[in-house]
Parts: sequence; C-alpha cells; structure tokens
Amino acid sequence: MKKYQLNKKQLPSFIDHLKKQGTVFAPHKKGDASYSFAKVVESDSVILEYNRTLNSIKKYFLPPRELLLSYSRKDNSYKKGTIGKEKKIFLGVHSYDMKAVLKLDYNFTEGNPEENYLLRRRNSSFIGVSFIPDEFHFSQSVGMPVHDTDGFDIYLEKNDDGYTVKIITEKGEKLIKEFNGLCDALDISSNHIQFQNKLKYNYNRLPEVFEQSWNAEVWEEVAKRCVGCGTCNLVCPTCYCFDVEDNMDLSLQNGTRDRSWDGCMLNDFAAVAGGENFRKSLADRQRHRIFRKFRYITYITGEPWCVGCGRCTAYCTAGISIVDIVNQLCDEYEQKYLNRPVEQSGLNLEGL
Ligand code: SF4
Ligand code: SF4
Repeated sequence: MKKYQLNKKQLPSFIDHLKKQGTVFAPHKKGDASYSFAKVVESDSVILEYNRTLNSIKKYFLPPRELLLSYSRKDNSYKKGTIGKEKKIFLGVHSYDMKAVLKLDYNFTEGNPEENYLLRRRNSSFIGVSFIPDEFHFSQSVGMPVHDTDGFDIYLEKNDDGYTVKIITEKGEKLIKEFNGLCDALDISSNHIQFQNKLKYNYNRLPEVFEQSWNAEVWEEVAKRCVGCGTCNLVCPTCYCFDVEDNMDLSLQNGTRDRSWDGCMLNDFAAVAGGENFRKSLADRQRHRIFRKFRYITYITGEPWCVGCGRCTAYCTAGISIVDIVNQLCDEYEQKYLNRPVEQSGLNLEGL
C-alpha cells in the first residue's frame, strides 16, 4: 500500500484538486455542536475532525424524499424522475459509515436490484478519515475498528502534522495523481484506538443471545420511556425502509409518485387496511428495530446490521441507548440460560 504525508496547510489545495475531478461532499459544521455532509463550495469550510454527522452519506443514494415518476391520465403516460450521472467524491467518511454503505449495497442488490439507488451509487469514490470515538460510538464491538479501510479508495489517518494518506485502490491512485502537495510518509505506525462504549459480547456471540430474546423484559422496560418519534430510524445509516405515495393534483389528471423515508418505530408503519396494526405496542416496535439490526439480516449474512455509529443513542429523544438494550439482553441471557441451576435447565447430565 502506498503512503504519503499530507500536511495540514495543504488540505484546502488537496480538496481543490478533488473538486476538479468531481462533486465533492464532506462534513461541515451545522449549528453550534453538529456536523453534516454537504457539497463542498469553499474548501476551507470542510471539517475533518468531527464526532459524527447528523445523517450519514446514505442520503445521497437514498434521498429522504424523491420523485419516482410523474404521470398523466390524459394520455396514460408517465415519466421517470431523472438521476444525475455526476462523479461524486465523498471526503472524510468514518469507517462505520463506509460499512453502512456496503450493507445498503447488499440490501439494494439482493432480490430485485433497486435502480434508483444503484444509479446514484455508481461513479462514487470514498476517502475515509480516522476519528476519536466518543461516548456513543461502539463500532469496534460490531467488527469495525477506527482504521478499517474496507470500501475506501483513500484513507486519511490523523497525525500531529496532518494526515498519513493511504492509497487503497487504483481509483484512489487516480484521484491523487498530479496533486503535488504530498510529501513522503512520516515513519509512524497506526495506533489502536480504544472505544469507551462497548457491547458486552463480541458480535459473533450475539446470535445465541437473540435466539432467546423474543420475550425479554427489556422490551417493555424501554417502551415505558420511548415516545415513538422514529428519530432512531431516520438517523440510522443502515435503515432503508421507505413509503411510496401517489399524489394527484386537484384536476385528478396529473400526479406524481413519491418515495420518502419511513421508520419502523412510527405507529403507522405496520398499520394495514381494516384498522389492524401488526406492531401496535412500542415494545413490539422496539424489539423489531433491534432484531432488524442483530437478528433477521444477521441470520442470512452472518453480520450485524448495526455499524455502531451511536446516532440512535446520541439523538434519541428519550435518552435510550442501543448498547444498554443489547447489554441488558446479554445479562438476561446469562441469568436465564447460563447461570441457572442445572436441575432447572431441563438437561439430563447423569452419567457425564
Ligand atoms: S428515538 Fe428514542 S424515543 Fe424516539 S422512537 Fe427511537 S427509541 Fe423511541
Ligand atoms: S442501530 Fe443505531 S448505532 Fe446501529 S447503525 Fe443504526 S443508528 Fe447506528
């Protein structure tokens, strides 16, 4: 792997160099204490040292709201919404958000490939950056250390003078070609960065916990605090549920078919005709949300579908922590199945 040094003062010219090759999206300050990915207009407004952005880069591939098609009953015609072919460069992505994009790739290519997502996803390059985990990150517990470079074309690892630039792919090599602001890499090795927040079990052990967690006490306990606002779904980089709605104009001749994000914590999400709702209670909805991250898709792929970004906890209206939920499930599992007396286990150990 080729490595270079990018000194701090060269960063704006590096971004200018990227801008000549495509539309660059990177983290910017939003308000006093938040960050958000946005199109780079001024190179020196980019912030590469941040804890997390409000939304992940998912919004560029699966927009919060999009026009799928417009139609007319007059001539029975329809026209699909247009999707640009611009080259996109995502700068300053954390390893867990990169992994979330790879998971969405799986979701939108399995079964019937989803055209709009895939059209937006093509022509994208990713430049990662290291980060210091705060009290909410736990991506290490779900298999993603800070310096995981899976999916990146280039990775920037922070050092005292700027960044070590690691070239991961041929695409990355092309992106930095002809940029003459790089120096020889400094002779420093990567630090293993510790996380403050952790799941009690390694993610490989969670399937055995979730196998026994359907009736766990935690669902009702959490439901007493949850207000069902759906924020946890909306900020999650691996949530991809959406609603599709037809909107007719007043003449009832022309209309649009629109798609917008939806969330399983919202009361109407599982409502169907006849006034029924498959997940009426907040406890059922919480269980569904967490099972989507650690049980259902995991059962098929062997991987957790949570990337440990900590957004659902950091932005939860009621201060509910996903790590606390999973750790409580681990505790309940231990108490009920691992630590109970053998005579109550139903196992016949005679003769062993
Ligand atoms: S963000 Fe918090 S309060 Fe809102 S639905 Fe999710 S868990 Fe419940
Ligand atoms: S479930 Fe929460 S911690 Fe996991 S990826 Fe989604 S927002 Fe991040």
